[in-house]
Amino acid sequence: ERVRCYSTKSSRPDNESDAAVGSPEKHEFKAETKKLLHIVAHSLYSQREVFVRELISNASDALEKLRHLQTINSDVSSDTQLAIDITTDADKKTIVFSDSGIGMTEEELKENLGTIARSGSKAFIEKMQDSEGTKDTANTIVGQFGVGFYSAFMIGDKITVFTRSATPGSQGYCWESDGLGSYTLAKADNLPVGTKIVIHVKDDAKEFLEENKLNDIIKKYSNFVGFPISVNGKRA
Ligand code: ADP
Ligand code: MG
Repeated sequence: ERVRCYSTKSSRPDNESDAAVGSPEKHEFKAETKKLLHIVAHSLYSQREVFVRELISNASDALEKLRHLQTINSDVSSDTQLAIDITTDADKKTIVFSDSGIGMTEEELKENLGTIARSGSKAFIEKMQDSEGTKDTANTIVGQFGVGFYSAFMIGDKITVFTRSATPGSQGYCWESDGLGSYTLAKADNLPVGTKIVIHVKDDAKEFLEENKLNDIIKKYSNFVGFPISVNGKRA
């Protein structure tokens, strides 16, 4: 199957991806990541809405890091305002989270999105091991702690990430996975600094394509985020 990182103009995941993407390189997820992704994709249902909280929280962290970097390194500037933009496309069945934050280098992408070394998902695994690890406890834990970035696989059957680090001169990359066993990485040119996460929404999760639904979830979980959030161009 053709992956979206390498799609032609007509089948771009969203109209903004002018990324010229190089040849894909396949990487296997670590065993514990596969295990976590399986739980996330198959047994969590009632808490799916927390993916919004997790992705906004990551975007906010990335914006905070960029702001900090700018105060200590005058070579790092940003040409866009520090903000989080969410867009939905009912035809393409995508939800896109964009931030103008610090972005990721190739190494950071592999480390941060390929392993569960990060706190969000690590806490989930630890709590699951403390308890019996049932479906109910999984739902409770994910509601409280989330599973970080991987929570996007609760509603998406494919996730595409375009990112470019704010470190001057950084190459952009496209990361993509169906959350099963592997992900692909490719160089992507013409990307702005920051990160764009495209969720290809599962058929049973189409409710999350609704603007009102997203706005309600944002109000519920992300009311105190320190950066402006928009949904389809309107302030959330
Ligand atoms: P946590 O936020 O607890 O570290 P996550 O699974 O939510 O765990 O995210 C993993 C890591 O991926 C983050 O720590 C961060 O380094 C990176 N990351 C995720 N989303 C973004 C983003 N929008 N911009 C930059 N880095 C990101
Ligand atoms: Mg997080």
